[in-house]
Amino acid sequence: MSSSVALRLPSIDGLLRHPACAPLAERYGRDCLLTGLRQLLDELRPGVLSGQLSAVEIGAEVLAGRVGERLAQQQRSQVRRVFNLTGTVLHTNLGRALLPEEAIEAVQMAARYPLNLEFDLAAGKRGDRDDLIEGLIRELTGAEAVTVVNNNAAAVLLTLNSLGARKEGIISRGELIEIGGAFRIPDIMARAGVRLHEVGTTNRTHARDYQAAIGPRSGLIMRVHASNYSIEGFTARVPTAELAELAHTHGLPLLEDLGSGSLLDLTRWGLPAEPTVRQALLDGADIVTFSGDKLLGGPQAGLIVGRKELIAKIKKNPLKRALRVDKLTLAALEAVLGLYRDPDRLAERLPSLRLLTRPHAEIHAQAVRLQPLLADVLGEAWLVSAVKALGMIGSGSQPVARLPSAALCCRPQVSKRWRGRYLLNLEAALRGLPIPVLGRIDDDALWLDLRQLDDEPAWLAQLAQLQVDL
Ligand SMILES: *Cc1c(COP(=O)(O)O)cnc(C)c1O
Repeated sequence: MSSSVALRLPSIDGLLRHPACAPLAERYGRDCLLTGLRQLLDELRPGVLSGQLSAVEIGAEVLAGRVGERLAQQQRSQVRRVFNLTGTVLHTNLGRALLPEEAIEAVQMAARYPLNLEFDLAAGKRGDRDDLIEGLIRELTGAEAVTVVNNNAAAVLLTLNSLGARKEGIISRGELIEIGGAFRIPDIMARAGVRLHEVGTTNRTHARDYQAAIGPRSGLIMRVHASNYSIEGFTARVPTAELAELAHTHGLPLLEDLGSGSLLDLTRWGLPAEPTVRQALLDGADIVTFSGDKLLGGPQAGLIVGRKELIAKIKKNPLKRALRVDKLTLAALEAVLGLYRDPDRLAERLPSLRLLTRPHAEIHAQAVRLQPLLADVLGEAWLVSAVKALGMIGSGSQPVARLPSAALCCRPQVSKRWRGRYLLNLEAALRGLPIPVLGRIDDDALWLDLRQLDDEPAWLAQLAQLQVDL
């Protein structure tokens, strides 16, 4: 568009004084507003000079509106809540376990006030942060002692380094796993200063394989729970009790990295059997390590439990200081562990267990209820149906087990060559909602697994804003 009278951008001073900008200065601060206005004017200047912009487009109200949007965008937190409708309950990329109310309250308390993190209130002297949860852990697992670090990877690193540095760590070839995110047992061993001595084969390892590996350089025997894959068919594995006996005959400690580490037998809730920490200790493991935010359902943490003298040695390692947990984690962990004292009510109170055990019929009913609403918003280009789906526990727990669930399945009603584009656009539109909705694309459809759709009102409230570019 060209006009005979040359347009001029409003001045910064004029804009700052304009009533449309005043609330922005109030809300975001004068400095941010000034920077925002300068950037915007710089961007618009070429368009004004070339006559491509109209007077309306550079009016003070319009400019204030545009700057306001940008400032709102900049101020929005980068850490954002999402709807996890992927079907994977303990999703590592989406923050794993959700905390129960009791833990959220404990975190708030710990964030707001000073606390006895390392102070023994009974004795009136310096204390140890591990003491805050030691009693509970002993009660729930039968362990003699405990120490807590930042996550289970740290727990494994610290334990290996404390008990096996400059010695050999004996481990079955079937357990040399990679967990993801670059956590590989051989690499962690190397970083811990433990020389890897692998025994047996990928599918079969016998007691005689371990026996033959034991010698003067041996420092420990390690067992790793093959969390994220399964070996089936012609397999052999030495039971923990037998391996513990062998280790102890030769004066070696047996470490067991349980990974997800369940504190209770999950079959009681109809979930797949997972080895418990108590059982591993009863079987003779000297140290057991596990995560706080997998099946346990708590905050990110790595728990190291087992024999008192070994735990004492681990706690003396200077690395412990580098890997220690913070007060918020400990507060949350104590609250979560407290819920385990009443297993009968655990499934109501612990969100991860509640979601994992949500009845299929209930999820299906929710899918049937929501189907017409989503279909209505998406319009004729999509076939939306309430269907059966199979979810997963996630975080390397029970990789083969599937959780019967229900989903909203969205199929684009277009020719095959357009389907991929439609699906990606729908996925992007869902991600673009105020609370991004994350599903998964599979078999030419987008699936929203509803097992974890707890907050249905919030999901519904933003549904009308869904706009898919076609
Ligand atoms: C998940 C897992 C780890 C790592 O635990 P993080 O808490 O994620 O650090 C280590 N070992 C096993 C067997 C696991 O399953």
